[in-house]
Amino acid sequence: MGQVIFIGAGPGAADLITVRGARALARADVVLFDALTDPALRELAPRAHWVNVGKRGFCDSTGQATINALLVKHARAVDVVVRLKGGDPSIFGRLEEELEALALAGIACEVVPGVTAAIAAAAATQRPLTRRGKGRSVSLTTAMTRDGQLHAPRSADTEVFYMAGKQLGALSRRLLAAGWPGSTPVSVVSRAGWPDQRHSDHLLSDLGRAAMLHAGLPTIVTVGAGAAPLPGVPGGSVDDAAQATAAAPTALPSSKP
Ligand code: SAH
Repeated sequence: MGQVIFIGAGPGAADLITVRGARALARADVVLFDALTDPALRELAPRAHWVNVGKRGFCDSTGQATINALLVKHARAVDVVVRLKGGDPSIFGRLEEELEALALAGIACEVVPGVTAAIAAAAATQRPLTRRGKGRSVSLTTAMTRDGQLHAPRSADTEVFYMAGKQLGALSRRLLAAGWPGSTPVSVVSRAGWPDQRHSDHLLSDLGRAAMLHAGLPTIVTVGAGAAPLPGVPGGSVDDAAQATAAAPTALPSSKP
């Protein structure tokens, strides 16, 4: 009986995986990976058998059941199975289902953390998610609930939304209804950590304008204290509200090695 190691690949470029993750990946006999992970990661485990189990958005229960079954099957056949997940496995990664399925089968697991997209977006834009005195709490929220409802609360000084890219206009309306002022800064980053990452700044009332710019890309929407640009810092646009509403994409430095 083998073991399963869940590894967070980080949000993009292969060098954003942790050293521990890279070492564990090098031991893999089989790697089950998601669509969002960088193909260059394959070089870290060239002899392993790589299986693409990627899915976009919510997969149906059959899809998840198939992944669970594949994990168990491979763990019974080889020594080390790696389950490579984009970002961090613990954040919107269906980790609980997979851990439960493996526990039920009596298979030992380990979880190696990764850089989640919210953190990668904060780094790419040089916008700290916490701010002394103003940003004491951060919330990571999936905008999409299982039954397709949009979830947009005011629960923290900085709200970071995953899986919101397709409904930025609706997200803006919901957040306004939840009590956020229209002048709240919003930072939108898609493909954070990749060479073609995109960033735009908005006021909450104009967030709908970001839709075209980030259409079809994995997107992080940061709202509130942690979205505010820092004066004079690259990646920030000082405190110019007019520039923020213009929604101009900002060229971000490539994170390619
Ligand atoms: N486990 C992942 C999240 C998986 S859910 C993590 O920790 O990052 C998938 C969502 O994550 C996408 O819809 C998008 O909102 C976000 N996401 C993943 N990679 C991203 C990236 N490189 N840039 C921006 N958002 C990303």
